[in-house]
Amino acid sequence: MTTRYRVEYALKTHRRDQFIEWIKGLLAVPFVLYSQPHGVFEYPPSSPELGTSPPGSPNPVLIKAREEAHRRYAEILHDVELMIDDHIAHQNDPENPFPSKLKLLVPSIGPFFTRLPLEAAFKFQDRKRYISSRRFVSPSFNDVRLILNSAQLISVTSTTPGSTLQLATFDGDVTLYDDGQSLEPTSPVIPRLLDLLRKNIKIGIVTAAGYTSADRYYARLHGLLDSIATSVDLSPLQKRSIIIMGGEANYLFQFDPTSEHLLSPVPRSEWLTPEMLLWDERDIAQLLDIAETALADCIKTLNLPAMLMRKDRAVGIIPSSPDIRIPRESLEETVLCVQKILELSSAGRHKRVPFCAFNGGNDVFVDIGDKSWGVTVCQRWFADPETGRPIKGENTLHVGDQFLSAGANDFRARSVGTTAWIASPAETVELLDELGELMGKKMS
Ligand code: IMP
Ligand code: MG
Repeated sequence: MTTRYRVEYALKTHRRDQFIEWIKGLLAVPFVLYSQPHGVFEYPPSSPELGTSPPGSPNPVLIKAREEAHRRYAEILHDVELMIDDHIAHQNDPENPFPSKLKLLVPSIGPFFTRLPLEAAFKFQDRKRYISSRRFVSPSFNDVRLILNSAQLISVTSTTPGSTLQLATFDGDVTLYDDGQSLEPTSPVIPRLLDLLRKNIKIGIVTAAGYTSADRYYARLHGLLDSIATSVDLSPLQKRSIIIMGGEANYLFQFDPTSEHLLSPVPRSEWLTPEMLLWDERDIAQLLDIAETALADCIKTLNLPAMLMRKDRAVGIIPSSPDIRIPRESLEETVLCVQKILELSSAGRHKRVPFCAFNGGNDVFVDIGDKSWGVTVCQRWFADPETGRPIKGENTLHVGDQFLSAGANDFRARSVGTTAWIASPAETVELLDELGELMGKKMS
């Protein structure tokens, strides 16, 4: 996971982590000023105001410190919540030329599709993670990341008009299954995804893995596809409510119980957006040629134990044998180098074809398009049959793991819908349980 230690970059194109670091900094203040690390040495527990308590009973000093930390953290997150409300008011007012206070404090902040109930989310995560009970470890990057996820879930399931979840999109590697693995029938994620379908939520699996045929996706997703096919309580419409968007935004497959691999390819003419129709095949080929040359140069310059892989809509480098690990710094260097070369190329400069260069953990790929396009296609595919209106950003949740490493392909989805940033398939399971609970509450 990329949050464990940090690599310094010469080129900082986006900083998704800035917002989290900023909140972490705010929470560090009460932690430093009010935490009671000495409380742990006091035994029998005593304090001038609270007196001495019998051995074995909870330490009143620590209880008071925890309550105080909880109150202060909650207050800070409440204030940030109000700042986000103010930011939303600014972003929705085209007449207002001034940046919001939040934009001034965190210049890289993007648009928000929903408000974020951070105080409620903190209280939920504090019950789970005992953040306020800690005296030696301050609220961490991961604490804040999980608080933001919970706030997003509360928001997309809240009873505020218009804020119901309609579409959940999921990244594949590291989100649904371990890197490079597949969704086996025993995966705990499967019953939770089926539960979403049962609740009439549409599902898109938006993965960078780019294959032209259904058998390859079946190999990666067979546990899920077989479960849907054999389910007796999902209606035919619910079964058809899942699509696979592969290669970021390049190959669309729909669930098809009659096909051998339970998926049938959908021709591009049926789903390309008007903007995507303008992407010229010559520009695509030129961009991939330049990327291929740049990747080959990186293999040489950094002496990477890797080889090139060219596909019709992507080019990448993969380890020259499966047991080799390419150093993370080399992967990040390669992404930033190729990205810069592509941005300065003729097709890149004129932004004729969008692309996504990213570090996939032990490989680097350059794909045509990115997940913002992939999620947009899902929103259009599941458009309201009566009005033809696509599903909106505030009704969409994209769950993924890549928000920080170079290229961060899931981060791109942030521009078209709400997002949740998970660090492992186990966290996806927890997130889906939290979502199920919130939806259950709303329905009851
Ligand atoms: P994701 O996490 O589901 O988006 O999958 C990303 C991973 O898919 C990459 O790290 C690669 O290992 C793999 N992959 C296979 N084919 C492609 C491709 O054509 N483009 C990008 N990634 C690919
Ligand atoms: Mg991933």
